[in-house]
Amino acid sequence: MYNVAIVGGGPAGIFAALEITKLKPDWKVILVEKGVQIEKRKCLLREGYEKCPTCKKCGLLCGWGGAGAFSDGKLTLTPDVGGHLLDYMPRKSVEELVKYTDDTYLKFGATDEVFGTDKEVFADIERAATLAELKLVHSPVRHLGTERSLDVLKNMQDYLTQKITILYDTIADKLIVENGCVKGFITQDNQKIEAEHIIIAPGREGADWLTHEFSKNKIGMVNNAVDVGVRVELPAPVFEPITDKLYESKLIYHSPTFGDEVRTFCMNPYGEVVTENYSGISTVNGHSYGNKEFRTQNTNFALLVSEKFTEPFKEPIAYGQHVARLANMLAGGVLVQRFGDLLDGRRSTPERIKSSIITPTLSCATPGDLSLVLPYRQMTAIIEMLYALDKIAPGTASRYTLLYGIEVKFYSGRVKLTNDLETEGVKNLYAIGDGAGVTRGLIQASASGVHAARIICSK
Ligand SMILES: Cc1cc2nc3c(=O)[nH]c(=O)nc-3n(C[C@H](O)[C@H](O)[C@H](O)COP(=O)(O)OP(=O)(O)OC[C@H]3O[C@@H](n4cnc5c(N)ncnc54)[C@H](O)[C@@H]3O)c2cc1C
Repeated sequence: MYNVAIVGGGPAGIFAALEITKLKPDWKVILVEKGVQIEKRKCLLREGYEKCPTCKKCGLLCGWGGAGAFSDGKLTLTPDVGGHLLDYMPRKSVEELVKYTDDTYLKFGATDEVFGTDKEVFADIERAATLAELKLVHSPVRHLGTERSLDVLKNMQDYLTQKITILYDTIADKLIVENGCVKGFITQDNQKIEAEHIIIAPGREGADWLTHEFSKNKIGMVNNAVDVGVRVELPAPVFEPITDKLYESKLIYHSPTFGDEVRTFCMNPYGEVVTENYSGISTVNGHSYGNKEFRTQNTNFALLVSEKFTEPFKEPIAYGQHVARLANMLAGGVLVQRFGDLLDGRRSTPERIKSSIITPTLSCATPGDLSLVLPYRQMTAIIEMLYALDKIAPGTASRYTLLYGIEVKFYSGRVKLTNDLETEGVKNLYAIGDGAGVTRGLIQASASGVHAARIICSK
């Protein structure tokens, strides 16, 4: 019998464990992780495979560190970005949590440098953005880079290995709930884990499982918006005047045609586009290295369109998967198209890509036609956003700009939670991080773990 059992060894689960061991050093804590230790994690694509082999457990997403392990390690230091924690507590509390979480990353080896703190520089870029009808969100960023993220998470793994029980290669399967109170869970290999409090932190990778298990136990879900879009890749000099100063610019636009919100997301100067695999579906993402030696010539970022659906629609995750599957169906994986080809109504071909001024960093992407994949509404919003961005970063709407599809965020369903992040309906069961739909980034995912841990320890 444990005091606390945690499902998922991503940033949310890790920070919950760190906080509990700090506040209650005598408590028995267990963390169950589907993947392996961080030093054993492997992504065959990163090691030179041409196509994503769609491993049963995606090496990019599963294992100690979760999706954070090979992430770009951008710690966004504001409550306004990367999640919905402001819906659960006052701004001051979220600010305190963000600061505390950032300090913990620093303690475990994060880099000192923070981008975007110079107010005058920000004001200049904000002015240019306003003239282009774009809203620039103030979001200072500490950039770890992929290699430093791995080091920091490894330090946390080494620290926690001494303090708690960690089961790797173990998948939580069925929750045990009695009289409205959680008692534990059964793993896929039939181990029964019993604990007074359970924290579920399975990330986007486990969002499907969470939705299924929670609905079985009559825990409500609220539909989040569905975020679907593309990853844009262009020559780094196009965005240098902005990325050199802010590193990442969070820009929001409302498409004139449909009024939908489009935003930039996860900007990676001199980075690489990567593919990730959610239960056999290939989607896109991006990252960059802190070490200048590994820099590429390109910058990439996502353009995501937020769609809010109305009743009776209840399946935002399935919707996102469906659109991504279409790209996979046409391209056998990720699809790439030049912006000019999209506008000309023709598919990109290997020859056309070759004759461009940009070399795709995701070489396994198949040239094709995104207009056969993305709904007209989202496609229109993306095209309009590219033209708006072109006003502050000339060259964005170049015919050579590459668009990879599909980027989709499966944080769509949000669990109905109290302000303590405890589920409404089942006592002592907490849901945190991206999988619960509460967060969508490293800092808030980690902060949600700290918050749940503090609540549990205070009970
Ligand atoms: C390539 C890439 C780049 C990114 N770059 C950034 C960035 O620069 N900045 C930023 O803020 N965010 C970034 N992100 C997003 C960030 O990584 C996530 O927001 C964050 O990791 C979410 O944390 P989490 O703990 O909620 O979930 P995850 O990190 O997804 O961890 C969940 C863990 O739970 C495990 N799991 C799932 N189901 C089960 C189960 N049933 N039983 C046991 N274990 C289970 C999974 O294996 C996984 O290890 C990036 C993501 C990717 C993929």
